[in-house]
Amino acid sequence: MKSSLDPVGTLKGVGPKKQAALADLNIQTVFDLLTYFPFRYEDFRSQALTDLHDQQTVTLKGTVAAEPVVNYFGRRKNRLLLRLMVGHDVVVVTFFNQPWLKKQVEVGQTILVHGKFNAQKQSLTGMKLLQPSEQTVQSIYSVNHQITQKTMHDLIKTAYAEYQDTLEDFVPTWIRTKFRLEPLKTVIREMHFPSTPEAVQAARRTAKFNEFFLFQMRLQTLKHRHQRENQAACIKTDKLTLQPFLNDLPYQLTDAQHRVVGEILTDLQRPVPMNRLLQGDVGSGKTVVAALAILATVLAGQQAVLLAPTEILAEQHANSLAQLFAGTNVNIALLTGDTPAKARRQLLPRIKAGQIDLVVGTHALFQKNVRYHHLGLAVIDEQHRFGVNQRKQMREKGAATNVLSMTATPIPRTLSITAYGEMDVSVIDELPGGRKPIKTTWIKSSQEATMLKFVKKHLQQGEQAYVVVPLIDESDAVEMRNVMMTYTAFQEQLGSDFHVGLLHGQMNEADKNQVMDDFKANRTQVLVSTTVIEVGVDVSNASIMVIFDADHFGLAQLHQLRGRVGRGTQQSYCILIADPKNKVGIKRMNVMSSSTDGFFISQKDLELRGPGDILGKQQSGIPNFNVGDPVADVNVLSAAQEVAKMVTDDAEWMQKPENQNLVRQLHALNNQTSFD
Ligand code: ADP
Ligand code: MG
Repeated sequence: MKSSLDPVGTLKGVGPKKQAALADLNIQTVFDLLTYFPFRYEDFRSQALTDLHDQQTVTLKGTVAAEPVVNYFGRRKNRLLLRLMVGHDVVVVTFFNQPWLKKQVEVGQTILVHGKFNAQKQSLTGMKLLQPSEQTVQSIYSVNHQITQKTMHDLIKTAYAEYQDTLEDFVPTWIRTKFRLEPLKTVIREMHFPSTPEAVQAARRTAKFNEFFLFQMRLQTLKHRHQRENQAACIKTDKLTLQPFLNDLPYQLTDAQHRVVGEILTDLQRPVPMNRLLQGDVGSGKTVVAALAILATVLAGQQAVLLAPTEILAEQHANSLAQLFAGTNVNIALLTGDTPAKARRQLLPRIKAGQIDLVVGTHALFQKNVRYHHLGLAVIDEQHRFGVNQRKQMREKGAATNVLSMTATPIPRTLSITAYGEMDVSVIDELPGGRKPIKTTWIKSSQEATMLKFVKKHLQQGEQAYVVVPLIDESDAVEMRNVMMTYTAFQEQLGSDFHVGLLHGQMNEADKNQVMDDFKANRTQVLVSTTVIEVGVDVSNASIMVIFDADHFGLAQLHQLRGRVGRGTQQSYCILIADPKNKVGIKRMNVMSSSTDGFFISQKDLELRGPGDILGKQQSGIPNFNVGDPVADVNVLSAAQEVAKMVTDDAEWMQKPENQNLVRQLHALNNQTSFD
């Protein structure tokens, strides 16, 4: 029986050569061909002369009034003049350098001319000559060397004629009703052979949904398969056993923290490995959430590891977790690349014997010779700072263990659905109480004096300020001078009442630590710095963040920098100094000053810069879609994800009659491409 999932080679006129050329365009089946939609349309429908504007690209229908004339000037240059009767008016049409067109027209013949209209002269610069039968909206495809527009057109026409009756909707009926989707056959017809602009729009909407839905179905089925094939220990927790720990905390968990702890504990009790991403802005309190997951694991007789991207962060975590766990029996050890060989030799057997409950460290934790007794949970902090490969390695190593990844970088919805689609996501969307949202202002560099006055006033109230200067290349002398100049400028302006510190990447570790300690202890009130302060700095008395040349930073980075203030109870401020040169730059500054929502900001960043710019095309992990735009159409993407989850959450979905078309469609897709 004929099916749209037949190889494209079954079509008349598609031999091995064409088949290979089509494969280059990712077209393997008839279905692929029929969903190879045009990327734009050209309107060749003729218009009335009275409707035209000057310089508009238009199509006119008329009769050839006189024999066309070709004038030559120079060796290669020529023009063809043609008088066209359009109703009772004469329009002079000029074609440059296409003398052969003369042979294609005869006096008295009705033709279509597509070109640019000049209202004053009532003339047309011809671009294309068409037959009256071509008076339609034409689809334009992205094609390659072997396949021309015309071939593509003809192929799709043939395929549609032969296969239109086999086109069955694969999206289950309840979903089609819910989102008022067009039938697949209509979608394909309207996308290729449009009848009206409205019909195309409706078709495109459904086409996008269909594409996203298939993508999500594949993702969800893979996720379910991964869960079936990998078992993890069930970590049963009784909330009561965690209560003493909670009672000992100097604060109450926020509602958001409570919610995500609940989500994590539920995951841990299931026999399938947890793969959860915990997102929460800097300062939202992710550490204590991780601590609760670790405690639950240890109380269930399993071990846990906490992985940090740098030695410094690992040490910080080891210290703060030791404090948090002071009232418990959790045994903690630190293992990094810096751990001396002797200490390491003593530690490894204890880890293997299960005498250590929690190992905190860097990727040294995952080296071959580190063996665990019962590894029940791996927590990965600042997971976005690990490379794609490292992440893959960790995923493989931890395939059968529970993984909790944490990140302070808000992941835009587009990415969390596509690139991170295999993870479940928990969000801490609330900062611990008492903190006020940071007020952000954008000023021009001509207003620096106002900024200085403002900073001085707050310093006099006992507060502290960060001043950040962009430095792309720390070895660049010109850029370094920029930081130094800012540093001396602040020293001069503030006089002897206040002390200014300087921090940049070329300083050695000891000097950096000294500068940081001075600022923490309020021996310096202003810290002028390059972006090295981005990670792991926590000075709650600092209430002002000044960022020079703010338009040189990405929005996500600005958001991170701004997160350095707003950690105490006083009102905090962020002052962006920038003279953006274009609209996008202005928009970006406005996004920053109008929002403190990291998710909103990162989605805007994606929209304004495009995914390729932010992460590199390969790095982004966003798959290529045919019609759907995962950034602009993120709402459609998200709706498709939601229903795909609903379908696959039913363990029997593949057996149900209403899903059979979908099963077939997915089966064909999975046979075609590996999906990794
Ligand atoms: P991050 O999410 O950036 O890792 P941390 O876990 O380091 O944040 O927490 C930042 C600070 O907030 C820490 O000093 C921590 O003790 C404190 N904190 C965490 N949760 C709460 C809470 N519910 N109420 C008050 N302070 C909290
Ligand atoms: Mg943290």
